[in-house]
Amino acid sequence: MKLKAEEISKVIQAQIKSYNKTLDISEVGTVISLADGIALIHGLENAMAGELLLFPHDTYGMVLNLEEGHVGAVLLGSDDNIKEGDEVRLTHKVVEVAVGDELLGRVVNALGAPIDGGPEIKGTKTRPVERVAPGVMTRKSVHQPLMTGLKIIDSMIPIGKGQRELIIGDRQTGKTAIAIDAIINQKGKQVNCIYVAIGQKASTVAQIVEKLRHHGALEYTTVVAARASELAALQYIAPYTGCAIGEEWMEQGKDVLIVYDDLSKHAVAYRTISLLIRRPPGREAYPGDVFYLHSRLLERAAKLNDALGGGSMTALPLIETQAGDISAYIPTNVISITDGQIFLQTELFNAGVRPAVDVGLSVSRVGSAAQTKAMKQVSGSLKLELAQYNELLSFTQFGSDLDEATKAAIDKGARLTELLKQDQYSALTLSEQVVSLFTAKEGLLRDIPVEKVRDFEKGLHRYFKEKQGELLAEIERERALSDKLSGDLKKAIGEYLAEYKLRGE
Ligand code: ATP
Ligand code: MG
Repeated sequence: MKLKAEEISKVIQAQIKSYNKTLDISEVGTVISLADGIALIHGLENAMAGELLLFPHDTYGMVLNLEEGHVGAVLLGSDDNIKEGDEVRLTHKVVEVAVGDELLGRVVNALGAPIDGGPEIKGTKTRPVERVAPGVMTRKSVHQPLMTGLKIIDSMIPIGKGQRELIIGDRQTGKTAIAIDAIINQKGKQVNCIYVAIGQKASTVAQIVEKLRHHGALEYTTVVAARASELAALQYIAPYTGCAIGEEWMEQGKDVLIVYDDLSKHAVAYRTISLLIRRPPGREAYPGDVFYLHSRLLERAAKLNDALGGGSMTALPLIETQAGDISAYIPTNVISITDGQIFLQTELFNAGVRPAVDVGLSVSRVGSAAQTKAMKQVSGSLKLELAQYNELLSFTQFGSDLDEATKAAIDKGARLTELLKQDQYSALTLSEQVVSLFTAKEGLLRDIPVEKVRDFEKGLHRYFKEKQGELLAEIERERALSDKLSGDLKKAIGEYLAEYKLRGE
């Protein structure tokens, strides 16, 4: 950083003028340059990294670079009213946000101030947005399921409370849809949710808030939004703000689900700031600490041990890939930080397989320990059957004659693929999912034409709700299929099947 002679002399002159006031330059500094929301400040010798600075006109900034002669800071508000020579003060605080139940049902900006037109948030408690993640000894292994309500995920890529599961895919592949469905599915389950929107259009955020409200999910959700039109610095802070809000609940012993939509844009915002503040660019022009950017965020998701209240924070970060390339810089970073990934494919999405989850490339490294027994029982061989089906499918393209076993595997796979399709905003309960998957596992879809499978499933669920409520309740209660329950289930499905065939649908 080169400083022009006249700038230095200006600072010196100002210093001399106020000499009698004996300004303590360890606490107060002077803006020596200001551009693109980045300020270089002389003085502030006691500044801490990440410390909040007070500029004139109640504008705040945050310390990013601590250098020998000066401090580099990023402004958290407009720089219109600030000029070179202005005074800057240390606040001895890092950026903090209000936390607590008051935030439920609210939409706030990256600094925790409401942007939904509602009343001011007078939360008595605040928390620093950055904090060291809980250590190993304070954690417990993931052991409770966090259901998304989506068959394809809950059966094959199960998520546990306290887990970090990445949702990754190209643009417009249904990433946000999965995250929002997961939030909606927490209704009545005592899980507080946080949706962090980073770098999205204001209209998109408004639509999501409206959807959450419509499905009765806003009342247990906080939306933290740093929209595309906002400063890069705010987009950079937003996920940490959401995380701090979640941590408060986690420490109260509650369960929390937090969605970061998305971390690709977060990385880009951080790159923008880093380049402006002249940190050396590395691979893809990202600064050297871009891995740490996401690791220190995602490490804060945890399942706390019982001594600490047993709360949990489950994180669903989203990453947007370019042309399905999961080996790019940011995707590989985040894949290595998380406990698994849900990979969405454009080809599947366009072929109508929605959610467009590529089962072969998706994995949950810890979630199966948390899966309910009933779900394990009905989904045990699913992944293998689907993999086999996809492999066989490429054979059949050559139109060769198929033996009976191959044909049966293909028939079953096609029905299974159809059964795993699911519309947005139509989460299924554990028992409904078990009924569907049980039907497939027992081969009871054999006589249903592939294009009728979804229709059949809808009817089956209706039939169970109307006539077999007790059976559904038993699955929810027992969370495992005993021989007797399996027998009853088979009988009930058989009855509906007979009825369905009789109708000749
Ligand atoms: P972006 O990259 O723009 O953020 P995205 O990957 O988050 O996109 P979504 O916005 O969730 O994708 O979904 C893209 C479109 O697909 C939306 O119009 C959504 O309504 C539709 N969609 C998503 N999931 C499903 C589904 N299961 N069934 C039907 N339509 C779906
Ligand atoms: Mg999206």
